[in-house]
Amino acid sequence: MALIVQKYGGTSVGTVDRIKEVAKKLIKHQQQGDDLVVVVSAMSGETNRLIALANELHDRPYGRELDVLLSTGEQVTIALLCMALEQQGVKANSYTGSQVRILTDNSHNKARIMDIDDTKIRTDLAQGNIVVVAGFQGCDEQGNITTLGRGGSDTTAVALAAALKADECQIYTDVDGVYTTDPRVVSEARRLERITFEEMLEMASLGAKVLQIRSVEFASKYNVPLRVLSSFTEGGGTLIATEDSTMEQAVISGIAFNRDEAKLTILGVPDHPGIASKILGPIAKQNIEVDMIIQNTGHDGTTDFTFTVHRNDYKIAYEILEQTASSLGAREVTGDDKIAKISVVGVGMRSHAGIANTMFESLAQENINISMISTSEIKISVVVNEKYLELGVRSLHRAFELDKD
Ligand code: ADP
Ligand code: ASP
Ligand code: MG
Repeated sequence: MALIVQKYGGTSVGTVDRIKEVAKKLIKHQQQGDDLVVVVSAMSGETNRLIALANELHDRPYGRELDVLLSTGEQVTIALLCMALEQQGVKANSYTGSQVRILTDNSHNKARIMDIDDTKIRTDLAQGNIVVVAGFQGCDEQGNITTLGRGGSDTTAVALAAALKADECQIYTDVDGVYTTDPRVVSEARRLERITFEEMLEMASLGAKVLQIRSVEFASKYNVPLRVLSSFTEGGGTLIATEDSTMEQAVISGIAFNRDEAKLTILGVPDHPGIASKILGPIAKQNIEVDMIIQNTGHDGTTDFTFTVHRNDYKIAYEILEQTASSLGAREVTGDDKIAKISVVGVGMRSHAGIANTMFESLAQENINISMISTSEIKISVVVNEKYLELGVRSLHRAFELDKD
């Protein structure tokens, strides 16, 4: 008998019929003798609908009240799933994040899980119940509702699996595993049998939304066996696990991309020590995260400085940068919010030279101009014009032969 934590994403519980299907699947699984803890997301589109409502009432909705609002999405699904289970004669109890108690820090809208009280869950399981927990939410020490950031139900599931020392954490979604790249963009994308935590972490942080980054961090830290599977079809999915030296290592495991970024440049800024912090300090103060950063070599005592931010923060970052430019006596500020970042990821990169060159050559053949480059031990990212994103990803997928077994 195993203890399994399963998570069903928005599409998997998107309609009443889908919820019935999930209930049937759970019952079948429970009959095999396993204990089940199930995490669910809001029904598909619901979180976006709630955000749109908030936007009608506030310029930049954030903080405590946004969390109170967004947490309702998951609360609907836990109740409906338990009703579906009860209707089929199976005992089930639903819990919101604060009822479990999933304790988080108090950074609203992107809270981090600090502790989970598993008492209620264990008692319930001992009584033969299926336990259904709302994803994406928790509460801080004062009892305020918090949420974990978009895609946060993945993290709820992994954190529960770690706390309960579950045998496996299974993420059920609308694709049957982790692919070499987003299968909705590149039809030749191939499902991976396995991927390392390290690679999955890079893929997730570089835009592959199939798993929230924090869920992968958690799984890696607590060694939770993590699997991505389809709730629509049967199959073994993709196992995310530690690096296995016996496996033949592909040089590149996958390609991730992200259209959510925007680029800002401050031109002709006096090249003094401390200039980077003078430029980025005011940006950080507004809680805007900076991703890539490039400072050019100085000429005639001035330099150019470019960085990227989330596209939602573009307007505010631009305004802040214009103020910085005038106080530092810089020449000009320019920006572009029609960019995309494409990244190739693979642990095999450590032992292979020439990956960057293959990447640049392949993009050049398609006449795609690269405007920024950044590298780390197991990834290379480039920024290109957004309109070349799909072409770029497809050509790299071919160049690295990811369509071949
Ligand atoms: P859920 O609602 O179940 O959490 P998400 O939409 O968050 O589902 O994540 C699943 C989606 O992730 C897929 O539909 C797919 O388009 C996208 N995706 C992006 N990159 C990948 C990848 N490398 N492999 C699989 N899916 C990916
Ligand atoms: N409902 C939340 C979202 O849409 C959390 C999740 O689905 O994981 O981001
Ligand atoms: Mg998701």
